[in-house]
Amino acid sequence: MQAFLDNLMLIFERFSWVSVVDILLVALIFYIVLGWLQGTRGMAILRGVLLVVMILGLLTNLLELPAFSWLWSTILPALLLAIPVIFAPELRQALERVGRLGAQPSTHRALAGQVVHATVEAISSMSEARIGALIVFERTTSLGDYIQTGVLLDALASPELIIQIFYPNTPLHDGALIVGRGRLQAAACVLPLSSATELPLAEGVRRLGLRHRAAIGITEITDALAVVVSEETGTISVARDGYLIWDLKPEQVQKLLLAGLSSSPIRAWFRAWRLGAWWRPTPTSSRDESS
Ligand code: ATP
Ligand code: MG
Repeated sequence: MQAFLDNLMLIFERFSWVSVVDILLVALIFYIVLGWLQGTRGMAILRGVLLVVMILGLLTNLLELPAFSWLWSTILPALLLAIPVIFAPELRQALERVGRLGAQPSTHRALAGQVVHATVEAISSMSEARIGALIVFERTTSLGDYIQTGVLLDALASPELIIQIFYPNTPLHDGALIVGRGRLQAAACVLPLSSATELPLAEGVRRLGLRHRAAIGITEITDALAVVVSEETGTISVARDGYLIWDLKPEQVQKLLLAGLSSSPIRAWFRAWRLGAWWRPTPTSSRDESS
């Protein structure tokens, strides 16, 4: 007991302001990493790895098991090496996100307001009329490859034109409309579907169809924003960073789009946060949480 207290005293004696900064820094890194992983497949893997490490660590420390300890100490470095391999997609996304900080979005500031205004007006009409729509907004990652899969437009945005594009049974209604540099770039574009096998669903959602999966899919691999109007329910949703916020009002979409398109990612983040429109990426966010 005395030895324990002595040890404790020693630790406190060596404690300084630098230690506080040190601990806070480590805690911050853990917080950010866990925040990134929350809700992804990476979280389940991390939990599994931690559990295995804890159980094996306890076994080797509490009991005298020399052969097992040898095996464990040989495996551990290999396990550490495996982490970057297992988390490759998450790491790539995280590094891409860091790289994009400070980059300017492709939408010209003067045109962003007009595009957003036209979009919001169009989606509120389409939501009421139950016309399905999928509109993707290019930010700093080029969507050139996906624009090529559709019909080129290069048109000024207007609510009438957007509604016309998605009007059922017309040539351009099938697929996504891509908006970039403040203009409607192409319609009927094919997007990658989300690779997630299990997408947690919001209350009242039975399953996510292809339109919503395509919206999530494009935001998993680029920093684009995707707006979806559901043909079945008229619900408006926005996808970002691989997450979908379900059931938004047109005004909320307007705030999110303006914040996302008219300034650099860092400023957009702070503006959206100040507006209270920044969401923690949970796929099941509902109207109440995001407003
Ligand atoms: P809704 O609520 O509107 O029914 P949903 O998520 O249930 O949407 P589906 O009913 O499967 O989706 O919607 C099919 C439509 O989604 C297609 O007609 C097509 O326009 C669009 N779509 C499907 N896959 C893609 C894709 N890969 N890229 C772009 N658009 C797609
Ligand atoms: Mg459907």
